Amino acid sequence: MTSSPPTTLQAPLDVASIRVQFPIFQSQTDGRPLVYLDSAASTQQPESVMGAVGDYHRLHHANIHRGVYQLSQTATRMYEEARAAVAGFLNTAESAECLFTRGATESINLVAFSWGNACLGPGDEILISTLEHHSNIVPWQMVARARGAAVKVIPITDDGEIDLDAYRRLLSPRTRLVAVNQVSNALGTINPVGDMIREAHAVGALVLVDGAQWVAHGATDVRALDADFYVFSGHKIYGPTGIGVLYGKRALLDAMPPYQGGGDMIERVTFAETSYAPLPNKFEAGTPHISGAVGLAAAIDWVRRIGLDRIGAHEQMLLRHATERLEAIPGLEIKGRARHKSGVVSWVMLDPPIATLDVGTRLDLRGICIRTGHHCCQPLMDRLGVSSTARASVGVYNSLEDIDALADALGEMVDEER
Ligand code: PLP
Repeated sequence: MTSSPPTTLQAPLDVASIRVQFPIFQSQTDGRPLVYLDSAASTQQPESVMGAVGDYHRLHHANIHRGVYQLSQTATRMYEEARAAVAGFLNTAESAECLFTRGATESINLVAFSWGNACLGPGDEILISTLEHHSNIVPWQMVARARGAAVKVIPITDDGEIDLDAYRRLLSPRTRLVAVNQVSNALGTINPVGDMIREAHAVGALVLVDGAQWVAHGATDVRALDADFYVFSGHKIYGPTGIGVLYGKRALLDAMPPYQGGGDMIERVTFAETSYAPLPNKFEAGTPHISGAVGLAAAIDWVRRIGLDRIGAHEQMLLRHATERLEAIPGLEIKGRARHKSGVVSWVMLDPPIATLDVGTRLDLRGICIRTGHHCCQPLMDRLGVSSTARASVGVYNSLEDIDALADALGEMVDEER
């Protein structure tokens, strides 16, 4: 139980040369190397991202969009170049369709409260799936309650896939918006969002895709997808926290009222009447997270240089290995058996029963970081019949040895309990 099987798989990426770019992997936990398997919660940051943020603070910081002096203009240029980098990354028609927010959560709230308050009414329906993160559930519940609309839930199969037949049955002319994640953070299921968007459009509904768990693992093309809205967070793609993106089609964003009022989002203010700035400023009230945008652009650049196809292939190899090793552990049950998955494995220890919190704490003593709990997916946990799972999720810096360290530790835990 305690020794690793020989590792025969070949990594298509040179993990060692990637890991040295991450200062955090130079650190140790009780003399052991850090085994970081919680990238679905937050990825670590490479030196190039920290360097870009540091250079911005050291050399270029000023408030943007306002100053006539050169420093402010440089900061403005860096911020707008970051927006252009996001636009290129998502393949949007224009940069102005990319809004900076605090993260995926704020992006979804922006759509819920701006579009939802303006466009929803009694009898309208919003479809979400059982796989959603709370951030793609609660804002819709709030706005639906305020507007007299209803939130309907697309069920999943026992394998953790969206039930597409049920989805088709739920779609109707009453459906105004479908809000669905591209990848489930709790199970790793990759959802067929392209097909779902086509079918939603056929009944006249809009689609918001929560790409928080996708963008770091594969290429994104919002125009090929024909997504109406697309959201993600910087800290899940090797960038800083506190920065995220909302993409929206221009016609939709132009028609939506501002989400927040304040500086920078106006054209002209009088006490009698105020007119709003054009996109993107209309939705970016107040001083934004300038260094966060700069860091996000550096992260996008870093990821694109490695290549999202190579990253995806590497992570699929880690997923296969993790699935094989974990399912060989007696009494361990993997939750989520979708045909298409990203690098996420969720499990419970049934025999001997070991509480997930206990699993996470005992792994931490060995320098292994995983996530335990409901993963902000309580309705999904209810559907699975558990209150929590243990979850390992991989990033570009993980190796087969990381997976072996996890599996060996779990095997030993089982041995100790027997
Ligand atoms: N959506 C999904 C699928 C997520 O996994 C997360 C975070 O875990 C979010 C949304 C919310 O992201 P943030 O907390 O960065 O706003």
